[in-house]
Amino acid sequence: MEPVVGVLALQGAFAAHERALAQVGVATRQVRLPEHLHGLAALVMPGGESTTMSNLLTSSGLFDELKGRLIDGLPVFGTCAGMILLASEVLDGRPDQRSFGVIDIAVRRNGYGRQIDSFETDLAVVGEAEPFHAVFIRAPKMERCGDGVEVLAEHDGVPVLARQGSVTVASFHPELTDDARLHGMFVRHHGIIQ
Ligand code: GLN
Repeated sequence: MEPVVGVLALQGAFAAHERALAQVGVATRQVRLPEHLHGLAALVMPGGESTTMSNLLTSSGLFDELKGRLIDGLPVFGTCAGMILLASEVLDGRPDQRSFGVIDIAVRRNGYGRQIDSFETDLAVVGEAEPFHAVFIRAPKMERCGDGVEVLAEHDGVPVLARQGSVTVASFHPELTDDARLHGMFVRHHGIIQ
């Protein structure tokens, strides 16, 4: 059976992730309810608003179900708000905001400033010959990164792309350009495509 990668579709930039995954030849499914997790090979958690997503994860019943799957090692790629939701420590979060705590990092919400401080830059990514053009929008800043976390790209000495086991996170939006290399890297790393 063809592997299917889920895209969390409660809120935010999920359609662009589906497009990027299609570009690397992977079938996708929008995930809005616990039953949509069934049989997935991996999951992408998009950017958007982590507080809203946290609320919707709880009200949809997805939070606990998904947490179990993540702890069991379901490969996941969280971008921007998705990274906040995966982090073990969230700084400047709302008091009721929940995160899955499956990667040993501390992230500060809006750590690069407000909407007006959004920016684009070229990143050197481990294993990639050409730089990757990255779009940062009210991005979370990684302020601590545990020993077990592999840093795959940095901006001004701060990790912005990192991986620990089954969990990959990016502070920026890799789905907002035509360049699907990071989606390709994610699915290949976990053996979903060759
Ligand atoms: N600042 C947003 C948050 O806290 C994240 C921004 C984004 O995903 N582009 O959730």
